[in-house]
Amino acid sequence: MANKKLIRINRGSGMHWVGDGFPVNTLFSYHHQADEISPFLLLDYAVPTDFSPSKHRRGVGFHPHRGFETVTIVYQGALEHKDSAGNSGKIGPGDVQWMTAGRGILHEEMHSQAFTEKGGSMEMVQLWVNLPAKDKMTKPGYQEITKSNIPVVILPNKAGELRVIAGSYGKAEGPAKTFTPVSLLDINLEVGKSLTVPLTEGHNTMILLRRGQIKIAGADNSETINAKELALFSQEGNQVLINSLDNSSLLLLSGEPLNEPVVGYGPFVMNTQAEINQALADFRARKF
Ligand code: MN
Repeated sequence: MANKKLIRINRGSGMHWVGDGFPVNTLFSYHHQADEISPFLLLDYAVPTDFSPSKHRRGVGFHPHRGFETVTIVYQGALEHKDSAGNSGKIGPGDVQWMTAGRGILHEEMHSQAFTEKGGSMEMVQLWVNLPAKDKMTKPGYQEITKSNIPVVILPNKAGELRVIAGSYGKAEGPAKTFTPVSLLDINLEVGKSLTVPLTEGHNTMILLRRGQIKIAGADNSETINAKELALFSQEGNQVLINSLDNSSLLLLSGEPLNEPVVGYGPFVMNTQAEINQALADFRARKF
């Protein structure tokens, strides 16, 4: 076994709003590190933010996507989704929505009615997962993965627990159906404990630290990862060894790189400029 190497810590470029519902920090994007993050395209972290009770529903109104999947993980608060394929759903703490835009979808992402009226803290992650060229024009799809369907693995030595959203950990299999090999693990690690996560040689791997503080085995002493930062690892190696310096919550992402060209424009991510032009033409012709 060989440890993957910590190659970079991303702190994002600061907060910006998505619609009026989601103050997010973009912790990676295909505009900068496409080869290092493939098959992932983008990660927006909406850090815990308090919203006061309101009559006005906050969120993002109807907008299109083509060529990839959007994965929304709610940690605090509640969201409602509605799309042009006829799917709708409400997700709360611990739930995950895995939407395949494929050849094209229009959707809205809003705070739930109940959350809007009551107010409270909202925390979520939105991850964009690329589709391989052969599946970019697949039929749109929607997987609502509730907390109760996500297996929980209790870690030895009272180290904590983890949830397998996609991929596997030991005998536990995540419920998400993916087009290419992708692992998504939600990990809670107690202070002073360590965890080795077996991964695949050649896969791109990242850790979003939501809260706490961790250190990666083999990394320099100065390279402590703090809350709200994202660590990016080498393709070489087949495990990461995480040491928890505080009670820590982290999202670990790993996946097989697609090794295909990435050309994106706003909510469309394809392989060529011609395909982007087609997406814009189809959107304007109301074909979504
Ligand atoms: Mn969207």
